[in-house]
Amino acid sequence: MKDIIIIGAGPAGVSAALYAKARGKDLLLLEKDRVGGLISHVSKVSHYASLADNESGEEFSQKLKDQLAFSNIDVTYEECLSIEKKDDYFLVKTDKNTYEGKKLIYATGSHLKDLAIDYKGFDVKHWPYGNEESLKGKTVIVNGGSDGASKEALYIAKFAKEVHIVQNQDSLMCIDEFKKQIEASDKIKVHTGTSLKDLEIKDNKCVKAILEDCEICDENGIEIYVQIGQNGSTDLIKDLANVKNTFLDEEISSQVDGLYFAGDVRIKDVKQIATAVADGTLAGIRASK
Ligand SMILES: Cc1cc2nc3c(=O)[nH]c(=O)nc-3n(C[C@H](O)[C@H](O)[C@H](O)COP(=O)(O)OP(=O)(O)OC[C@H]3O[C@@H](n4cnc5c(N)ncnc54)[C@H](O)[C@@H]3O)c2cc1C
Repeated sequence: MKDIIIIGAGPAGVSAALYAKARGKDLLLLEKDRVGGLISHVSKVSHYASLADNESGEEFSQKLKDQLAFSNIDVTYEECLSIEKKDDYFLVKTDKNTYEGKKLIYATGSHLKDLAIDYKGFDVKHWPYGNEESLKGKTVIVNGGSDGASKEALYIAKFAKEVHIVQNQDSLMCIDEFKKQIEASDKIKVHTGTSLKDLEIKDNKCVKAILEDCEICDENGIEIYVQIGQNGSTDLIKDLANVKNTFLDEEISSQVDGLYFAGDVRIKDVKQIATAVADGTLAGIRASK
């Protein structure tokens, strides 16, 4: 029986693990994909205190991995498939094993939404980092106008011929820092109050993107990126928690004895590394008491 099982090794889960380990707890840290979660994919991590200049999500994630390693915390790369509350412990089943834990920290974060259109088999992507070669000299559409979408559009503009930001709201929803850079770029065009409706695919290339009010055409192929927000990863916990619009309407210490929630999976007005790490810190310390 583990003292604490932590599900998710994003910033929230990693932080919870570091604080709980320091308090002598026997931990199981489960991760289905990569340490760092969402932030491990971004082209550049912004605003979190202590970042290096132009630090990529991959570099940030490596620092989390290093910190886990020198704190002697193993990451178990398994996907959690179910959670059951027994009288005084939690039964956790993964794709490979079954575990028991006295306490459980649920830090599964969120996953990116897709557009509600038929991609017709075309490879629509979320993250440009690692796809730079395919962007060189291309026409690119970025769906979404939040901070995340705007930042990725700026990164794409370093390689692409032209970038079209397609935003269904009446104006870009990003912070001034990104807005100013977008306005100053001669490669980025912003389409507001519209959305992508259809794609025309020829020889595995997207040659036409049909928006509500115009068409974007390029016989050499258009690359399409989607950053229109996230859904909470709450499927596994919905019997033990209040879920609203896919996110947890819950405090860090839940009503269920021994169960804690941390990070972006909770409803909160600011979803950043700093707030995820803050949740993880509190969950890790409280679960260790
Ligand atoms: C485009 C974009 C850019 C961003 N840029 C910044 C930025 O510059 N600065 C900043 O501070 N914040 C930024 N953020 C926000 C930041 O990424 C999040 O706030 C942060 O990653 C939340 O951490 P988390 O640990 O709560 O969740 P996540 O990062 O989502 O991590 C959750 C982890 O749980 C794992 N998991 C989920 N389900 C299971 C399961 N069943 N079994 C096992 N593991 C599971 C996932 O694989 C994932 O690794 C950005 C977000 C986006 C979308």
